[in-house]
Amino acid sequence: MLDYSSLLLAAALSGTCLSITMFAIWFTAPQARFVLTVACGILVLVAHVVLFWHYTRDPSAWLCQIVLVLLSLGFLIICLSAMQYLSIGDYRRAILPTLVAMAVCTGATYLGFDGVGFIVTYATVTALLSLIGAMFWIEGGHDRRILLVVSFLSGVCALSFGLCGAVLLVKGQWVLGVAPDNWAERVNSVVAVACMTGLGALTLSLHHLQAQIELKAETMTDPLTGLMNRRALTALYGERVFGPFMSVAMFDLDHFKRTNDVFGHPVGDQVLRRFAGVIRKYARTGVDAFRLGGEEFVLVMSRMTEEKAYDIASKISVAFGTEVVATQLGPLRSTVSGGIGFGGTSGTGLDDVLAEADAALYAAKRAGRNRVVVRDRANKADGPALRSA
Ligand code: GH3
Ligand code: MG
Ligand code: MG
Repeated sequence: MLDYSSLLLAAALSGTCLSITMFAIWFTAPQARFVLTVACGILVLVAHVVLFWHYTRDPSAWLCQIVLVLLSLGFLIICLSAMQYLSIGDYRRAILPTLVAMAVCTGATYLGFDGVGFIVTYATVTALLSLIGAMFWIEGGHDRRILLVVSFLSGVCALSFGLCGAVLLVKGQWVLGVAPDNWAERVNSVVAVACMTGLGALTLSLHHLQAQIELKAETMTDPLTGLMNRRALTALYGERVFGPFMSVAMFDLDHFKRTNDVFGHPVGDQVLRRFAGVIRKYARTGVDAFRLGGEEFVLVMSRMTEEKAYDIASKISVAFGTEVVATQLGPLRSTVSGGIGFGGTSGTGLDDVLAEADAALYAAKRAGRNRVVVRDRANKADGPALRSA
């Protein structure tokens, strides 16, 4: 078996290096705050290991208290970083029970029951690591393989701390006076170093994954309105077959060039954002909204009858007509025209449905604008018979 002191030294060294790497990564990507949190958590654990090594040589009650508090604190911070990564905002769920456990541990150690202090701390760490594993198992959406490995490593690490507590509990070692030294402690020092190094490396992968996801979301989003863009429309629906309960509404703001010419480009941008806001207000589950470019927008509506789709598009058009944008030249009202294309029983591609919606939109413009037009399915074979709001 390896010398216990060497194991502790290895743990401290590997933790320090890991933490420095993470600080460096955070420095280059400050938006990845969870990396900074992990780095802080690992630093606290390094401090714990160094002081624990000191405690094995020169035990004292106050050092024991600090060592145990640092162990719980380090894993609490790592747990918080996991919550940060998974966007689970309710940090109190982890903080409050850990603080209570730390207080119990400190009280027991102060009264001379340092063995109880160790048992409580090991139980706390086991709970925190299990929570991390469970959160990644349940909440992890994107790359399940990495998240499952994180869950597995957290679980193994939790088990090794749980064993340390269980050994003390079974032996009834309520008062120790020195650092616990048994087979579980030695197994734990090896397992913890391996798991924490693995988890640290995975943190880097998670950071990389998150950056990739953010970049992809950025390329799919229209920066002016925050809606999805044409690239996203093709990515989401380019290969889809549009059946009878799917439709596409195409919108084009009326006389928008004039709006720009008279009121200026910034006001034009404001009108575009206002229209996106109206879409968001009326779009519900099953509706995806896109800005194709310029003043053209598209809604893809799924699992919805033709009447319902028409109802949503009409409501958007009417609501936008009531919006007033304050400008230096006075209040500005704008209107929008829309056309709807429907999927067919035999299935239709995105381009076909868009073409149908575009034809209906063109008809809406010709009919005087400020309306939503639907191609009449009954007369579709005979030509462009249309009905409008
Ligand atoms: P119609 O009623 O027939 O649709 O007429 P229109 O003036 O809306 O149509 P047209 O296609 O001639 O004008 C579209 C204008 O949209 C022209 C362009 O300057 C403006 N535009 C395109 N993108 C943006 C943008 O991001 N911001 C602003 N403010 N204007 C834009
Ligand atoms: Mg246009
Ligand atoms: Mg227009």
